[in-house]
Amino acid sequence: MAQKDEQIVQRLKERIQQIDWEFNDLDTGTVLTVGDGIALARGLRGVQANELVRFEDGTLGLALNLEENQVGIILLGNDRNIRENDTVYRTEEIASVPVGDALLGRVVDPLGNPVDGKGEINFTEEREVERQAPGVMTRKSVHQPLHTGVKIVDAMIPIGKGQRELIIGDRQTGKTSIALNAILNQKGQNVKCVYVAIGQKASTVVEIVETLRRYGADEYTVVVNSPADHPSALQYLSPYSGTAMGEYWMDNGEDVLVVYDDLSKHAVAYRTISLLLKRPSGREAYPGDVFYLHSRLLERSGKLNEQYGGGSMTALPIIETQIGDISAYIPTNVISITDGQLFLNTEEFHAGRRPAVDSGLSVSRVGSDAQTPAMKNVASSLRLELAQFQEMQAFAQFSSDIDQETKSIIDHGKRLTELLKQPAHLIIPHELVILSLFLSKHGWIDKLEVSEVRKFEAYVHTEFTENYSDILAELAEEFVIDESLEATINEVLEKLHKDFAVIQNG
Ligand code: ATP
Ligand code: MG
Repeated sequence: MAQKDEQIVQRLKERIQQIDWEFNDLDTGTVLTVGDGIALARGLRGVQANELVRFEDGTLGLALNLEENQVGIILLGNDRNIRENDTVYRTEEIASVPVGDALLGRVVDPLGNPVDGKGEINFTEEREVERQAPGVMTRKSVHQPLHTGVKIVDAMIPIGKGQRELIIGDRQTGKTSIALNAILNQKGQNVKCVYVAIGQKASTVVEIVETLRRYGADEYTVVVNSPADHPSALQYLSPYSGTAMGEYWMDNGEDVLVVYDDLSKHAVAYRTISLLLKRPSGREAYPGDVFYLHSRLLERSGKLNEQYGGGSMTALPIIETQIGDISAYIPTNVISITDGQLFLNTEEFHAGRRPAVDSGLSVSRVGSDAQTPAMKNVASSLRLELAQFQEMQAFAQFSSDIDQETKSIIDHGKRLTELLKQPAHLIIPHELVILSLFLSKHGWIDKLEVSEVRKFEAYVHTEFTENYSDILAELAEEFVIDESLEATINEVLEKLHKDFAVIQNG
């Protein structure tokens, strides 16, 4: 019996050796297994990492795992028509996307195909999706402001061109709204915008595209959409695609703002891929290189020096936390890669203090170098005032009689908090943001009831825009407030404050 077995084994071995494995296995391969958006293939010995491969049915895949005996491929389409033993071909192309101004106003998928029904994109150039970040010697430090038009951000957590500022908070706390505000505010500022939607509901993205159109921001924006029903592979690819599009403009000396909404879902997509490819998993089942996933992405943003055209790419990555836990794995990773974070506080958002930017936990590590002198003038003490207010308020809850100084800190804090509120998608020119904070610095809000603060602010904005546009123009010229300008503004406010009181009482 044993002898017979051996004979069979021997015969099989001979037959295996006769098979011509070598039939051009450099450029083609055979599918071993397929499923869950992943295919393993034998052959393809010449394939490069990140090279596109094509299956018999035309579906594209990305060669991600290059192992000794097989290649792990993530599918950029449906796996329904791919079978075992199908042939898979090299394309000798690294995944790339169209770039250039033809993309503006369009919605594309992560491979750059239009998905907005507006026809072909007449592009002239393509770029590889993955690219080495610009080196240190090509860069310059952040020194120009990028105004978001969100009062509290521009005043306290200023963002500069080339900065990477994380927007982090629980679900439904206004993360997208802040990023969108920043995009809308770039109208007429010569900044091209890229909005990358990763793993979001299609309806949410439709709403965002609608908002962009309504404010005319689509003219300078491209939306890269990889919704929740896309394969993980496409979601994984999308931020790199968006970055490649932005990089083209940056390398041409232009300013770019790119929003990744959001990188939590991106990390999850990558985790799915990695687990399916049987890569070893680590903390929270993410693969060991999940840090590199986002560091190599965010390193590509920055400010180039004059020799390299002086362009910039500012990044606003978004991370969703679970019940405010910013010390979870992915949040801490991205916090350590970025130049600061805007932390959105869920309780305050629900209590109606919107945007719910937490003044204590939010920082901008480089942006203040880029803040305008006028803004520095009016906003320098805000952080301290708010911190004192929050502390005193907590303390005052437990005592009935508080001294006059504490009371005035609390009263001012309440009015300041009110002043910093702002509805979503309200774009305020920088000089008016300065004017708003001027009301706090020079004590004008302290003369009002809390409920009057925003009415007075709106009144001041309208009056200045309509009747004192020369003062606004002077302010906007270099954004410097000298003593004489300060006196002029105070003089006008004196009058407006009186008029306002009359309007309120009459
Ligand atoms: P998700 O976690 O679902 O992505 P998100 O954190 O991105 O949510 P948004 O979609 O920006 O949050 O906002 C959630 C809701 O809150 C929206 O209906 C939006 O209109 C509203 N909202 C956001 N910011 C403000 C604001 N400053 N004032 C009033 N409403 C706001
Ligand atoms: Mg959102």
